[in-house]
Amino acid sequence: MINNIAKFIDDCEQNLSQKFKEVNEIALFNQKKVLEAFRKNNISQRHFIPTTGYGYDDEGRLALSKIFSEIFHTENAIVSPLIASGTAALSAALFGILRPEDYLYSISGKPYDTLSEVISGTSNGSLKDFKINYLETDIKIENENIDFDYKEIEKNLKKHFIKLVFIGRSRGYEWREAVSLKLIENAVKFIKSISPETIIMVDNCYGEFVETKEPSDCGVDLIVGSLNKNPGGGLAPTGGYIAGKDNLIKLVAGRITAPSIGMEVGSYAFGYTQILQGLFMAPHVVSGAIKSALLFGEVFEKLGYETLPKKNCQDFDMIRSIKLNDEKLLIDFCKTVQKFSPIDSNLSPEPWDMPGYSDKVIMAAGTFIQGASIELSADAPVREPYIVHIQGALTYEHAKIVIEEILKNLI
Ligand SMILES: *Cc1c(COP(=O)(O)O)cnc(C)c1O
Repeated sequence: MINNIAKFIDDCEQNLSQKFKEVNEIALFNQKKVLEAFRKNNISQRHFIPTTGYGYDDEGRLALSKIFSEIFHTENAIVSPLIASGTAALSAALFGILRPEDYLYSISGKPYDTLSEVISGTSNGSLKDFKINYLETDIKIENENIDFDYKEIEKNLKKHFIKLVFIGRSRGYEWREAVSLKLIENAVKFIKSISPETIIMVDNCYGEFVETKEPSDCGVDLIVGSLNKNPGGGLAPTGGYIAGKDNLIKLVAGRITAPSIGMEVGSYAFGYTQILQGLFMAPHVVSGAIKSALLFGEVFEKLGYETLPKKNCQDFDMIRSIKLNDEKLLIDFCKTVQKFSPIDSNLSPEPWDMPGYSDKVIMAAGTFIQGASIELSADAPVREPYIVHIQGALTYEHAKIVIEEILKNLI
């Protein structure tokens, strides 16, 4: 067994030095990209200024749109604290573009949990209520490698005109690797070769700044995400974004406010400092969170647990999963994460019946921004084989401290 926990963790850290170097290089690349976007748009104090009412000529709102477009290399972008969450942004994008009888097609399996009611809910204002057809094809897993199921995709693209293909980059609670940009790039080429008019949209949550490119650099028409995650850098108080082709952005803007008004309005009485500063910090914060995830992985692999992503696999999203194989261990793990959080350290998470889940769920998140999963958090459905999912960390050091405390408990 381990007699010196701190040394054990340091050794694990040493083993990761090459990976950390790669992560640092990605962060440097992305930091340059973000800095250039700020410089090009001459961002200054006046872009922080709060606005009220309609917010006509709101400088912060306009600047954010330009900066995001610059970073993601898109024609246009909506970036707003008025978008309540990632789900709200994804929902607005889908409703903005799809019309009755259109086909929506997910080629990465079941979209993120919160979207199932948006897509297929009954009499709740879902896309289904508006007569939008939905198709889904699972990701193929062979020898732990994942890829899209091109046979099925081709079949469906030839059978119906697909208005919008949906791809989720992150893997959520699934026990498989996340979707890399390489895979997305190949899929886009394939889809466009068969059906050039099909719009391709990516749920980019947890994917921003993880690689040097974004899906919009790979031919994707629309990307959507949350400011509670990567691009908020842990500072943005709330919000979401949608970036992509100008004609699509206009349709989505019409849905977010009203048709013909679009993003000509929208004020924010708290001002834009934290959103802009958070975006500036985001490449660095994301790199720290990925290093934290790598350290969790290395430590638990060394202790004999199975973790995801696999060792030889790059982290394509922010989530690290550990198969703990033990209920008590899982619950203790989450309790320790909570206990060593900067906020709500006095609370103790318990498994509970969360709506929409078949098993009890336990969640540890002592965060500054409520529910922000760019901050260190751990959660798990309480069922065999007791897999905990860890994500985020505002600082790598915080994650290291939490790992040490978990090991103290464990040993
Ligand atoms: C978090 C997340 C969402 C939804 O974002 P919320 O802000 O929780 O509504 C959608 N997709 C993925 C992959 C996510 O991780």
